[in-house]
Amino acid sequence: MFSEELQDISWEETSKRIASMTDADVCRALSKRHCTVNDFMALISPAAIPHLETMARLSRQYTEERFGRTISMFIPLYLTNSCGNSCVYCGFHVSNPMPRTILTEKEIVEEYKAIKRLAPFENLLLVTGENPAKAGVPYLARALDLAKPYFSNLKIEVMPLKAEEYRELTRHGLNGVICFQETYNRAHYNLYHPRGMKGNFDWRVNAPDRMGEAGVHSIGMGVLIGLEKEWRTDVAMMAHHLRYLQKHYWRTKYSVNFPRMRPAENGGFQPNVILTDRELAQLTFAMRIFDHDVDISYSTRETPHLRDHMATLGVTTMSAESKTEPGGYATHPQALEQFSVSDQRTAHEVKAALQALGREPVWKDWDTSFDRMNTGYRSGV
Ligand code: SF4
Repeated sequence: MFSEELQDISWEETSKRIASMTDADVCRALSKRHCTVNDFMALISPAAIPHLETMARLSRQYTEERFGRTISMFIPLYLTNSCGNSCVYCGFHVSNPMPRTILTEKEIVEEYKAIKRLAPFENLLLVTGENPAKAGVPYLARALDLAKPYFSNLKIEVMPLKAEEYRELTRHGLNGVICFQETYNRAHYNLYHPRGMKGNFDWRVNAPDRMGEAGVHSIGMGVLIGLEKEWRTDVAMMAHHLRYLQKHYWRTKYSVNFPRMRPAENGGFQPNVILTDRELAQLTFAMRIFDHDVDISYSTRETPHLRDHMATLGVTTMSAESKTEPGGYATHPQALEQFSVSDQRTAHEVKAALQALGREPVWKDWDTSFDRMNTGYRSGV
């Protein structure tokens, strides 16, 4: 399990090593076709800032070699904002006296139909808060079953599950799971997650192991940038995690995301660091140079300008026209959002902008039937 490997990686030593990277370390990393985590640390360090243009060029080159000029399009659907956790940075936390919604089967289908009216999305991400009693595995299995007539690639972003539960959901068409660690800083983790099941660091950090064991085809990772001042250390830990997973579950496809917090309005949780656009670009280039195959995803949290720009320089997956409230497409459009969206364009506007940049938006890049053909082989059944 990765939690054991993580115990041997010192947060403090990693921070010091990143801070001590030199121009020579950066040049060495840029000259390699296959980078180590140490090289990645050089590329995200302040020493790499004078090399941003070279990094952008390499990032574009590796992305086009591996993905062509395609951008895979997806859309999230929030099934519920009911949650027993108390993440200090999230409006859905259990102590917020807000109305809670759990979409019914009828509402779920209405949402699916509404999404299909927006654009020909085939990649769907189902999102929930943490309510295993009312929105647990049987509820998710039903939502997946109901989605099959409308979408060919189904992912979830929900509470960490047991391996057998992931396996059960793959039988209902699940293809991918996203589970952000939020932060790899074990010492600080419980400050951000003081109560509820999410407070169990090891259970969360080992979730991708359980996904790999269960034969989930695609695993998504991320840290919430804004929690830790030393964001470079956090993403370096994620790079260790990615390499560990690739070594152990090498048939699985991986994606990364760098959600960043913005200053809170109305007195909410204030980020400990604000990542600038330039730093986010550096991080994206560094990840692509480090790993040519990983999907890099930008959500509608980011502005149209930045998303368009980065679509040509390393990003391979994007959401569009997202609603971050449960039932936001058809049945509960006035519910509270989890976070506000910066890119308010319609999916068709995003598509047109990408095409104008010479990118090809792809609505369908995976069919669950491919996965079924391979399931026995991958899971060793
Ligand atoms: S981040 Fe997720 S788990 Fe935490 S309070 Fe919000 S919905 Fe719940």
